[in-house]
Parts: sequence; C-alpha cells; structure tokens
Amino acid sequence: MSRPAIMKGCVLMNKQLRKPVIAGNWKMNKTPVETTALINEIKPLVKDASCGVVVCVPYIDLFAALEAAKGSNIKVGAENCHWAKSGAFTGEVSADMLASIGVPYVIIGHSERRQYFGETDVTARDRVRAALDAGLTVILCVGELLEEREQNITMEIIGKQIKIALAGVTAAELERVIIAYEPVWAIGTGLTATAEQANEVNKAIRGLIEQLYSKADADSIVIQYGGSMNAQNAAELLGQPDVDGGLIGGASLKAADFAKIVEAAC
Ligand code: PEP
Repeated sequence: MSRPAIMKGCVLMNKQLRKPVIAGNWKMNKTPVETTALINEIKPLVKDASCGVVVCVPYIDLFAALEAAKGSNIKVGAENCHWAKSGAFTGEVSADMLASIGVPYVIIGHSERRQYFGETDVTARDRVRAALDAGLTVILCVGELLEEREQNITMEIIGKQIKIALAGVTAAELERVIIAYEPVWAIGTGLTATAEQANEVNKAIRGLIEQLYSKADADSIVIQYGGSMNAQNAAELLGQPDVDGGLIGGASLKAADFAKIVEAAC
C-alpha cells in the first residue's frame, strides 16, 4: 500500500488526505469453507467502499480468503509472521511464505500474542523487519494495560512499543506501516475507549511519528483504533480527526456488522 504522492507534500494535518483502513482480525475463527462463505457475504456489502478493506485470517484460511477475495476490493492479511526467513521453528510461518502466496498484509504485535505467547517489543521489531523485507504491509498493534492507564503511563508504554518496533524502519518503509492503537482493556471485553480517549492517544502517536520521522510522515500514516469497535459505536470513533480506521475483532465475523463499520469509515 503506497500513499498518494500528495500526502508527502501535505503541510497541514488533514484527515481527508489519509485513506482509512478497516481491517478485520478473525483471530482463531473460521474454517476454509466458512472463510469462503463469509468473504462472499462481505464482498457485495463493501464493494463501493472508498476506504481500504482488509480481512486478517488464520494461516489455514489464507488460500480460501485469497481465492474468495479475488477481483474484489477486499485485501487479505495474516495474523502474525515469524522473523526468520526459514528454519527450525516448528509451527511458525515466515513473512516470505506469506508473500509467496500473495498475502499483502500482516498483523504484528497483537496484544493476544503478547499476552498468551510471550511476544515482546523486540520480537515485534524483528517480525516488522521481516514483514517489510518481504514486501508486506504491517498492521502494528500497540496499547496499554488497564493498570498502565490508571497509572497515567499510557503514552510511555505506547511510545516504547512504537520506538522499539519501528527501530530501523526507514521513512520509505513507514509507508507500509499502519499503527493500530488497541487499549488492551478494550479488546474483546465490550469496553470501548471513548472517542476522545481514542483520539487523544492516536494524536499523541502521530506526534511521536513526527518526532521520529517528519511532519509529512505523521500526516500521512494511517493510525487505527481497535477494541470492541462495533456497528453501533464505529461512527463516533471513526469520526475523530486522528482515527483513520479500525482493527475489528468480534464484529468482523458478522458480515452485516463489518459492512456497517466499513460504511462508517467511508
Ligand atoms: C482485536 O482483536 O484486535 C480487537 C480489537 O478485538 P475486538 O474488536 O473483539 O475487541
């Protein structure tokens, strides 16, 4: 995904110049047969979307998803990738393997990977590097725990996650990075950050990107919100000036709800 050239020259922060991306994270749900059925259901509902539409599916569903999405505006992503090109890593899948079958997107650093599978900022950094080297677009997830928010260290935590994960990523490579702000306490819990909370953090992330890269890069990077976004609350969250789309878990498994979120972003 490369950004329109106009974005690079944009001096003023302007949401109109960023194309929002709505990405579904199916987590460990759906068989290949169910994948084909769900994408076939989603396709007609989102065919006129002016925003980017991505579905990130389990590895086993990638072929079915690519086949079902062929010829449509739906792009396919994986939910993780390993940092090595190949080797003795039983059960893992490399970024090169994803690229070899035509998968364009990959989620990296999801809080469930951090929470249940011991992933860290450093492994996120290595996976980001492998994904970018393989030509993929990365959806990099960052977010604070509830106790970190309560201690008022949200931006310290997110700043550290971003600085480490993006270490060594060039400005040109940053064009293939989407950041998803996902407060851990809002994922799969039904608790949603308020629109103001989401925008406040997304804005601060944009400020950090300006410090690390440039104002033009900060103005053009897509920063999503994720955490119990659904058909009812999407319009308010997506209406915020620094919220450029969403990473959607539970609601992405229902075609009509996912389509309503896409509609709210466009
Ligand atoms: C996610 O898995 O990234 C997510 C945001 O999940 P949910 O929408 O179910 O909270």
